[in-house]
Parts: sequence; structure tokens; C-alpha cells
Amino acid sequence: MISLHVLGTASAKPTTDRNVSGSFLNGPSGSFLIDCGEGMQQRIASHDRWLRSIGSNERTKMSKIKAIYLTHAHLDHCWGVLPMLHSMDKIGRKSRLEIHGPTSTSALNWVKDRPGEVPDSDSGIYPSDLAIQFDWWKKHGGKNGAFQFEVDWILYPVDQVGIEGILVSDDDEMSVHAYVTNHLDVPSFAYLFSTPELQGKFDRSAAIADGHDEESIRKIALDISDSAKYRGPNRPSRSILISGDTTSDVPSFLELNTSVDVIIHESTFDDSLQTKATSYGHSTARDAAIIASHIGAKFLGLTHFSSRFQDLSHLEEEARSVYNQSHALNDGDRISIELDGSIHLERKGLEEWISIAHVMES
Ligand SMILES: [Zn+2]
Repeated sequence: MISLHVLGTASAKPTTDRNVSGSFLNGPSGSFLIDCGEGMQQRIASHDRWLRSIGSNERTKMSKIKAIYLTHAHLDHCWGVLPMLHSMDKIGRKSRLEIHGPTSTSALNWVKDRPGEVPDSDSGIYPSDLAIQFDWWKKHGGKNGAFQFEVDWILYPVDQVGIEGILVSDDDEMSVHAYVTNHLDVPSFAYLFSTPELQGKFDRSAAIADGHDEESIRKIALDISDSAKYRGPNRPSRSILISGDTTSDVPSFLELNTSVDVIIHESTFDDSLQTKATSYGHSTARDAAIIASHIGAKFLGLTHFSSRFQDLSHLEEEARSVYNQSHALNDGDRISIELDGSIHLERKGLEEWISIAHVMES
């Protein structure tokens, strides 16, 4: 019902097995991209080819992406956007695309007052803030400086977003909230994708046993109060929280008053590099586990690993000493959350998914 295809688990330096950040989310209201490091269009296409080759009914298609949610302006998280827009243009995209990201009020003012100029070091503005990059990208569209499709460039100044976060997208089937995270002086977000609470399952056989015919069952099912007698308990909202780069010092996470099924959290470093993690605006696997435990998530996916680690088992162990359902992710992994609350982590095998973890609703 919500499934996340993780297509990049390296930190800034990619390795032979791990690409820079980017994930493809399929939800009830469509497909979305969270972060878009370089080479994302090839990653999406080759993953889609693999899904097709195993006969999967789920796919990752670039043409289906409705919106891109960028966590922050570091290039390993966003340098793939402009080439991807060009590829979308070349394959004839006509539908509108939204691109969301964090910025600051001062960066927005800079772009307005001094278009085309890069902020200097004493401006207090990160030189490749998304406001600066968006401004540049807009001028470097497809043929004749424009794409054949509309791009909605949507920026939120983080200095105007409170601890409660901000609703950035909402329809009947999925909402997206953004929360300010803590990544040095770079405006940064985590995004929470959640489905609404649904009515309980309708028990047709009970209605038939009460003597109702098809016509009457249809009418009852449509009416909330009439159908209550035949419905099971409401089915809770399902959600996944995806952070970009951040330390564990995130007030919004500490105050989060919504349930989270899955959290994807960076874990660039291990315990031995805790001081470095904090001073570089990053987290250790243990930091990520502390956050997952605090917010009451059911599953933690660890990602954004430093290239110094080939074997990640000790990061997993350090996280599991705090929070048992901690899992180091690989490129190509799929995490799915079902309506009944069960969570499944699967890894690409030769010709099928290999089940790595299955967490049932307690
Ligand atoms: Zn970063």
C-alpha cells in the first residue's frame, strides 16, 4: 500500500555497490521521489527493468513521478534533478511536476534582489541553497530554455516552520508533512508520508445473515452510521518518515505526536565516530535508533553510510542494542507497509525478492 524502493544508500561518496541518495515511493495517490542524487534516471530505469523481469505488478517509472521532495541542497541529494528534468522532457512528459524543498528567508530575498549571483561566505546563506539552485535550473530548461511540461518550484523557508512541521501536500489518499532537521547551516527537512485512517472492513456475510439483499447492502455500506454495525474497527493511518542528513538533535522528532510505522534515517557513522558525526551535522546508527525508539516507530531503515564501511553489521548491532528493529539498507531494497500494519523488507535476488525482515502489527 506504501512501498519505498531505496535506490541510493551511500553518503556523499558513492561506492561500487552504493549510489548517492534517492528513493522512489509508490503510494495510493501515486509515485514520488525523495532526494535525487546524480544518475537517478538510470537507477530508476534499471530497477524498473528488474521489476518487469520478475513479473512484478509494481513498477518504478520516471514518467509516473508526480513530485520530487528534496531533503536539502547538498549535491549528493539533488544534483540529479536537472538531468532528470531533461530526460523527462526528452521522453515527452506533458504532465506537471512539483519539486519541493527547504530554503531560508534570506536565500529567497537574495534570489529576488540579486538574481544570478552566488552568495558570498559572509552572507550567511549556503551558496548552493535550493533557492539559488532552483533559480539556475529554471534558466536551463529543455529546448529553447523551457520544458514541455510545467514545473512547480516550491520552497519553504525553514525559519518560518515551527516545531509542529508544515503540511506540504494533501489529497484524499496521502498527505505529506515536512519537519525541520538539523544539518549544520543548511536548511533541511524530513518528510512524513501518511495515509488517512480508513473505515473498518464491511462484513457482507453478517449483513446477508440479517436478511439484507444486494441493493440494501450497497445502501448500508455507503452510510457511515448505518454501516457501523457491520464494520470492523477503523484501520489506522499508515506512515513513513524519511529524513535526509541530520544530527539526532531534532526538536520536531522529540515532539512528534503522530504514529510512524517506518523511519528511514541516516547513519553515516558508527559509535567510534560519534563526535565527528555531531560536528559534521550527521548521525551514528545508534543516534538513528534512539530517534526510532523515541518516536515509537515499528521499523528503522538505516542509510547514508560512509564509504569507509564495507561491512555494515557492526552499525546494525550498535543500532539494535537500542532498538531491535534496525536494518541496514542496500541499494534496490523495498520496504512495504500494508494496510494491516505489517512491514516487509525485501532485497533483490537474482530472479525474485528475498525476504529480509517481516514485522507484524502487535
Ligand atoms: Zn548533506
